[in-house]
Amino acid sequence: MTKQVLIVGGGLAGTIVANGLCRQLGNQLRNNEVAITMLGATETHMYQPGLLYVPFGRIRESELFRDQRKVLDRRVTFHIDPAANIDVEGNQVTTESGRTYGYDYLVIATGSRIRPDTIPGMEEGAHWFYDLNGARKMRDALAEFEGGKIVVNVNAPHKCPVAPLEITFMLRDHLTDRGLWDKTEITYTYPIGRLHALEPVAQWTQPEFDKAGINYETFFNTKEVDPAAKTITSEEGSTLPYDMLVTIPPHHGAQVITDSDLGAGGWVPTERESLLREGSTNVFVVGDTTNIPISKAGSTAHFEADTIIDNVASLVTEGRWARNYDGKVFCFVETGMNAGTYVWFNYTTPPNPGPPSQMIHWFKLAYNRLYWLSARGLL
Ligand SMILES: Cc1cc2nc3c(=O)[nH]c(=O)nc-3n(C[C@H](O)[C@H](O)[C@H](O)COP(=O)(O)OP(=O)(O)OC[C@H]3O[C@@H](n4cnc5c(N)ncnc54)[C@H](O)[C@@H]3O)c2cc1C
Repeated sequence: MTKQVLIVGGGLAGTIVANGLCRQLGNQLRNNEVAITMLGATETHMYQPGLLYVPFGRIRESELFRDQRKVLDRRVTFHIDPAANIDVEGNQVTTESGRTYGYDYLVIATGSRIRPDTIPGMEEGAHWFYDLNGARKMRDALAEFEGGKIVVNVNAPHKCPVAPLEITFMLRDHLTDRGLWDKTEITYTYPIGRLHALEPVAQWTQPEFDKAGINYETFFNTKEVDPAAKTITSEEGSTLPYDMLVTIPPHHGAQVITDSDLGAGGWVPTERESLLREGSTNVFVVGDTTNIPISKAGSTAHFEADTIIDNVASLVTEGRWARNYDGKVFCFVETGMNAGTYVWFNYTTPPNPGPPSQMIHWFKLAYNRLYWLSARGLL
C-alpha cells in the first residue's frame, strides 16, 4: 500500500519538507510506495523577509513572489484547497472544498498571521511591514514623512524576532540620508523588561540604540491606539504621542488550528526535540505554528524541516527514528542600510551577536536571492 505523506501549508517550512522528501524518497516515489501531497492556500509563494525592504523601495515586489508550483518538486501533488479541519484521531484532513485526504504521516506547516485587529485602533492608526499591503502603505507614508515622532511598537508573539530591530536601524539610516534625522525622534517599545526576548540580544541592542540616539521604553504592553489623537497607550499606563506609528502586530496561528481544536491561539503543542504534535506519533509540526518557545523565524523553520525530512524518510523506509532537532536558529540582522550582524543559537548555546559589518549585510542581501534555491532544497 502506498504510504501517504500529507503536508498542510505551502510556505517556507512546508515547501522545504516537500522538496526534501522528494530528494530522499526518489526510489519509493518511483515505485509508488509513497506519495507526497500538499494542501496550500495560495498559488504564489512569498519570501516574507523581503518585506523589510519594501518601505524603503529597496526591493522590487516581483522579487518577493514565485509560482508555488515552480518552487515545488513536480513529484509533489499540490492542491490549492485550504484545510478546513484536521482530524488527528481519524488521520484525515477535510478541505474548504469538502474533499477529505487521509494520511500515514501529516506535517502541519500553516504558519502564523498578524492580528492588528485585536488591539483597538491599531488597524486605523498604525503602519506595519509584515504583509504586502501594510509594507506598501508604510512606504507611501514614509515618503511623505517630514520629521517628527516615530514609535516602533513591538507586540508578542511575533515572527522574526530581529525584524523590529532591523526596521528601527534602517529607519534611522533612511531618515539620515534624507536629512530628516535631526527633526526626528524614534521611540522603540517592548513588552517585557528589556529590549529583546533573548537576553544577549537585548544586552547587545541597548548600547547600539544609545549610540544611534534611539529612545526606548520597556514593559510596554499595548492597550490601544487612538488614531485621532495620534497616541498609543500601554496596559502599564504610559501614553506616547506619534506622528508615525510602526507596529509589529500581535500574531496568531492559522484559523484551521483553532477550528480543529489543535491549540489555543492557533499554536500546536509540539515536542521540542521530536517536533511531533504532543500526543501523536505520526503528526509533525514545523515552523511558526509550533508552540515551542523559540524564535518564530524562517531559519528555525528550515532547520526543523531538515529534521522532519530525515525522520519521515527514515520512518517510511526503515520504520525507525533518525534524529532530534537541537533548537538551531541562524538569523542575519540588518543594523542599518549598509551594515549587519548575525545571531546563531540552539537549545544549549545562547546567541552572541558580534560587531556589525558591511560584509554581513551583503551576505543577507545575497541570501535574499538565494532563498529560492534554498526553498527548492538546492542550498
Ligand atoms: C517582515 C518579515 C521579515 C522576516 N525576516 C526574517 C529573517 O530575516 N529571517 C528569518 O529567518 N525569518 C524571517 N521572517 C520570518 C519567516 O518568514 C517565517 O518565520 C517563516 O515564513 C515561517 O515559515 P512557515 O512555513 O512556518 O510559515 P509561512 O511561510 O507563513 O507558511 C505558512 C503557509 O501556510 C498556508 N496556510 C495557512 N492556513 C492554511 C490552511 N488552512 N490550509 C492550507 N494552507 C494554509 C499559508 O498560506 C502559508 O503559505 C520574517 C517575516 C516577516 C513577515
